[in-house]
Amino acid sequence: VRVTLVDRENHHLFQPLLYQVATAGLSATDIASPIRSIVRDQANTTVLMAEVERVDLEGRRVILDSGELSYDYLVLAPGSLPNYFGHEEWRRDAPGLKSLGDALEVRRRLLLAFEAAEREPNAARRAELLSFAVIGGGPTGVELAGAIAELAKRALRRDFRVADPGSARIHLVEAGTRLLSMFDDGLAEHARRELAELGVDVITGARVVAIDDHGVALEGGRMIEAATTVWTAGVRPSPLAASLGVPLVQGRVAVEQDLSIPGHPEAFVVGDLALTSGVPQLGAVAVQEGQAAAAAIIATLASEPRQPFRYRDRGVMATVGRSRAVAKIGQTRFHGLLAWLAWLFIHLVLLMGFRNRVVVFFTWVWSYVTFGRGARVITGIAPSQPRSAHA
Ligand SMILES: Cc1cc2nc3c(=O)[nH]c(=O)nc-3n(C[C@H](O)[C@H](O)[C@H](O)COP(=O)(O)OP(=O)(O)OC[C@H]3O[C@@H](n4cnc5c(N)ncnc54)[C@H](O)[C@@H]3O)c2cc1C
Repeated sequence: VRVTLVDRENHHLFQPLLYQVATAGLSATDIASPIRSIVRDQANTTVLMAEVERVDLEGRRVILDSGELSYDYLVLAPGSLPNYFGHEEWRRDAPGLKSLGDALEVRRRLLLAFEAAEREPNAARRAELLSFAVIGGGPTGVELAGAIAELAKRALRRDFRVADPGSARIHLVEAGTRLLSMFDDGLAEHARRELAELGVDVITGARVVAIDDHGVALEGGRMIEAATTVWTAGVRPSPLAASLGVPLVQGRVAVEQDLSIPGHPEAFVVGDLALTSGVPQLGAVAVQEGQAAAAAIIATLASEPRQPFRYRDRGVMATVGRSRAVAKIGQTRFHGLLAWLAWLFIHLVLLMGFRNRVVVFFTWVWSYVTFGRGARVITGIAPSQPRSAHA
């Protein structure tokens, strides 16, 4: 077979560690690897950096921004985007966390907020600049809120003279009745307590109705003051699904048991865009589905029957900060230092590329020993741009 791998980015991204890039724990290059180098030894694979504009299922063509490809078999895995639930205008004041660009933008805003606070003579405005809101209490929101608290109260504590990063207020807002809906009550409560110990104000059962650069308005009239807000409240399917011309369920493709599109045994959908019953949108699912789609194609080429896809659940984990995490693996639930060590180990193993594993391992050891965060460089400001928190 000949394989053509198309992506609009030139790198594979390990999204579970995006929050650490956003909070200056890791550098962008530590969690990304060039796609070309990943498949370098696979002589039958060509990599094209291009935007897929649509898929013509009947004509078996993929239309790119720069030409088109015809195919015998298609595997579609464009993932998802931040979901603002119909309020795209909130993106300006509350960026999401889905790409490296997003993580660098969040890091820039967080670090600029401390810089602006150092220059601010007015105490009330300084307090607003040192107030942060994270919207969405899933694993990403929990990890991000904990990491912002550690950045402010530990790593930056002694670096400023006028602003007091230790006084920073971090609000984590969740619309549901509790954090971490994919974990059980006990672990979610444990995460809430751990966050409270780090100084994070956890607000549950609160729906956001407006966001601007001064804060967040909640249903019922409550206002949360915050000059910097980050959106982690959910994802929506890639708009590429709409180009397929097949029925969608909340924007996702309800695939057959072999992950093919109904009526199109030659076209597969895997990862976040595929809807298979009872299977969550997780990296582990995406990897297993990719392997299953490849196995189905190989079986078909060998005139053998395809096997139905079965997800092997290896559990879920979330860190809440240094030495703190919650984990659910099979019937076992645990938290604290053991869960955190398991989290570190698993994320190192899953990270793509030997160099990245070594760099991330030593960066984590260094941060653990020094309480520091190394990647605190602000980038992406044009020389003419004003240096405000939202420049
Ligand atoms: C912040 C964050 C933390 C997460 N943490 C965890 C975790 O701890 N554990 C876990 O299991 N899961 C986690 N997830 C979920 C996990 O990352 C996703 O479920 C998984 O990445 C989905 O894989 P995918 O291949 O479907 O999509 P993606 O990994 O998003 O890959 C989609 C690819 O398609 C490309 N693409 C999209 N549209 C186009 C187009 N039109 N043209 C060309 N290329 C295109 C993109 O550039 C991208 O490279 C996390 C997700 C996020 C955002």
